[in-house]
Amino acid sequence: MISSCEQKHNINVLLVTLSAQGHLNPILKLGKILVNKGLHVTLATTNSALKNMSSAPNFIGGVHHEFFSDGLPIDYNRKANMDYYMDTLSKFGPVNLLALIKSHPRKFACIIHTPFVPWVSDVAAEINIPNAMLWIQPCTLYQIYHRYYNGLDEFPTDTNPNMSVKLPGLPVFHVDELPSFVLPSNTFRSFDSILKQVFHNMHKVKWVLGNSFMELEKDVIMSLNNGGCVFWPVGPLVPATLMGKEEDVGFDLFKSNEDSNCIEWLSKQKPSSVVYISFGTLLFLTEKDIKNIASGLKTTKRPFLWVIRVPENQELPKHGFLEEIKEQGLIVSWCPQTQVLSHPAVGCFLSHCGWNSLLESVVGGVPVIACPQWTDQPTNAKLVTDVWGVGVKLKKDSDGGFSGEEVGRCVEEVMSGLKSEVIRKNALELKAAACEALMDGGLSDNNIRMFVDEVVSTCS
Ligand code: UDP
Repeated sequence: MISSCEQKHNINVLLVTLSAQGHLNPILKLGKILVNKGLHVTLATTNSALKNMSSAPNFIGGVHHEFFSDGLPIDYNRKANMDYYMDTLSKFGPVNLLALIKSHPRKFACIIHTPFVPWVSDVAAEINIPNAMLWIQPCTLYQIYHRYYNGLDEFPTDTNPNMSVKLPGLPVFHVDELPSFVLPSNTFRSFDSILKQVFHNMHKVKWVLGNSFMELEKDVIMSLNNGGCVFWPVGPLVPATLMGKEEDVGFDLFKSNEDSNCIEWLSKQKPSSVVYISFGTLLFLTEKDIKNIASGLKTTKRPFLWVIRVPENQELPKHGFLEEIKEQGLIVSWCPQTQVLSHPAVGCFLSHCGWNSLLESVVGGVPVIACPQWTDQPTNAKLVTDVWGVGVKLKKDSDGGFSGEEVGRCVEEVMSGLKSEVIRKNALELKAAACEALMDGGLSDNNIRMFVDEVVSTCS
């Protein structure tokens, strides 16, 4: 007789994502969880990851890897023209993914994809494999896009560019708190058409799994489920290192030999003393922004760990203003962020508010200084300040930049200002709620079990 565990091991799930760090991290984590629940998991991503993969295993945390071509040579600079890249991927991705699936020795029972490859739903429908989507931004964003792309509410237009928006389960959003892709000022045509395709294809998606948890976005999750969507929060999908547990290697697109230096350096700093600064993997700061952050940090006299990323094949210019503060902290081009955010020396996180960074900060219990730039980040920043109360927002100047004084003011406000105690208390409460959601029998854990049971039942 076959045990249910053996039965599950014969069930193969295919995960599909484009190879951006912020997309790979949550779907790989979901894959590892599904392996722990007894499924066999393969992760297929675009070939551009290959050039960064020379030393990474093709088997991470029990998840197998496959690559398919996005239609461009491996060394092509995809960030140079995102519209061209996304168009090429939409043209060649479906054909190449289909070929991979058809020639694969395993027969897949379910395909789970991230939102920015919405054509995966067409591939899955064509070969009659049930399809799930892992929504990798907040559920709040799902609601905003769902209402926008289905024409259910009014949003800012050229003739009414400054209108505020009130949607079910959400607070009022002012125009500077909405995702950049729904604004008339959006210049990224391809992201708009991809999101349009996501919501056009939703009838082909059987389950939507959200990288969030009930306590974090309760009202909007309830509202989505009451409104006819089947939306299951299964997060936060972050490495267990943030919860003080061991976790094997991730799928890192950027390598650094500075990793161990950061942790060694942090270990020499006082508890909750360090300002950690990172703007994620896609943004490059302007010289003016770097200068203003440096001058703000200088006024605080606090130690800092600052990840400054520069475009491929370039080096960080030797700015005089960085030289002036270099004794006060550590500047690196990459760091093991989840180890940093779980380190007791870190007191706050000046962040661009990418969703993975925020979830990692939530699970690390670290207060945030929000400095959002584009896409979901302005909306995520509102959650940080107005909904969860775990941080403050940097006020922008009229030209969209920010001053050194404002950086210094925000650092002091979260580290020692009047609100700092409440902010820290809220951050610790959210951290506890995140851990609870993931525990055996927690709400996110239960949702994953329900999902696994449904996938298993579709095979029997
Ligand atoms: N990250 C990291 N080290 C760094 C900078 C970023 O490990 O020095 C990771 C971070 O932990 C997060 C991901 O890269 O998981 C960035 O995703 P996020 O959604 O925050 O931002 P994006 O890069 O997509 O804008």
